[in-house]
Amino acid sequence: MNIGITFWNNGMIRFDEALSTVLASARLLAPEKIDLQDSLGRILAEDVVSDIDMPPFDKSAMDGYACRKADIGTPLEILEIIPAGKSPQLAVGKNQCAKIMTGAAIPEGADCVVMVEHTRLDEADRVRFTAEETNTNICFKGEDIRAGQIVLRRSCRIRPQHIAVLATAGKARPLVSRRPRVGIIATGDELVEPAQTPPPFSIRNSNSYQLYAQVVAADSLPTYYGIAGDHEQEIDGRLRQALRENDVVLLSGGVSMGDFDLTPAIMTRNGIDIKFDAIAIKPGKPTHFGVGTGGYCFGLPGNPVSTFLQFEILVKPFLYKLMGHDLRPYRSQAILERDLPVKLSDRESWIPVSLTPDNRAVPLHYHGSAHINALDCADGFIVVPIGSQGFTRGTQVDVRHL
Ligand code: AMP
Ligand code: MG
Repeated sequence: MNIGITFWNNGMIRFDEALSTVLASARLLAPEKIDLQDSLGRILAEDVVSDIDMPPFDKSAMDGYACRKADIGTPLEILEIIPAGKSPQLAVGKNQCAKIMTGAAIPEGADCVVMVEHTRLDEADRVRFTAEETNTNICFKGEDIRAGQIVLRRSCRIRPQHIAVLATAGKARPLVSRRPRVGIIATGDELVEPAQTPPPFSIRNSNSYQLYAQVVAADSLPTYYGIAGDHEQEIDGRLRQALRENDVVLLSGGVSMGDFDLTPAIMTRNGIDIKFDAIAIKPGKPTHFGVGTGGYCFGLPGNPVSTFLQFEILVKPFLYKLMGHDLRPYRSQAILERDLPVKLSDRESWIPVSLTPDNRAVPLHYHGSAHINALDCADGFIVVPIGSQGFTRGTQVDVRHL
């Protein structure tokens, strides 16, 4: 349904330009050493080098008998039992073996381990091999990691399996980037906190709590500064404090064209150099981004769906960039389950979809950026480009996962 028209609006920049702008503005935060057990989700600020070979010695991969492969056809005399962590006492010779445990050192002379499941003891307590053939069943010294080898690189986001690698390499206190401190301010005279029943013409503040959760999920440190009414002093006071105490401030609400949308002017007054104030995107057009001397500031639209999306696609990659990590969102191809007509627009549309087990993308019922529960079942988003009127059922679409 692409009719080949490119609309353009001078005030707006394309989303990819907005993303490059925020990423280019991000200055790496200082590194710090932390305990290994606290390092989940942190970004490595150094290449990690192993101080040992892994395994550090030839070791048995099985519980069984260490012997010479050439001898497995004959009954084997048992010399000793070798537990993990202990040194073998005797060399294995012709028609001999040592009972050995998984992880124990291979004795001199042995070149394989036969699994205990593939053996029986005869009347003379000698080991008889009962299978056709055997693997070597030895993990050789240094076959996984060599001493001096880089095992994890700077900018890696530490996941549970990386923690095992750090532990093995002796990195008890890895050097990681400091986490961004993120201040969150809600603006709007109509807002009350979730514990309250909203009085007439008011709504509950949902944005701030959603943003708080998104910041935590982005491995960063949120602080909530409450609701500022639509009054200059209230917003200004909170912004001033939040800028002082954080690396990044997220304001939500008050960035559109209303008479009480005061946020951009107050950002400017606080020394924030606004880099863009409108993105050719739906939802989230009035998203602002600026840089001050002590930090960064995003002015996000008030509607929770807009805020959610702009955090995910703009703020989150920025927070990781501050930590030295390039966030690569997971994408996949899916087949569109039904027609997705979209009004011709000078903005690209990000449409929430759920994915079926057979990989079909179902566009979610979504009637605008205030539709608070539109994202409940969302697995990801698909993008309808500027000038396109959407896609027909059966089209292969690119899904950006959440
Ligand atoms: P604004 O960007 O201030 O014009 O707000 C746009 C819409 O989002 C309005 O309907 C607001 O009531 C709503 N809104 C603003 N801030 C929040 C918030 N923190 N939580 C939920 N809705 C909000
Ligand atoms: Mg408002």
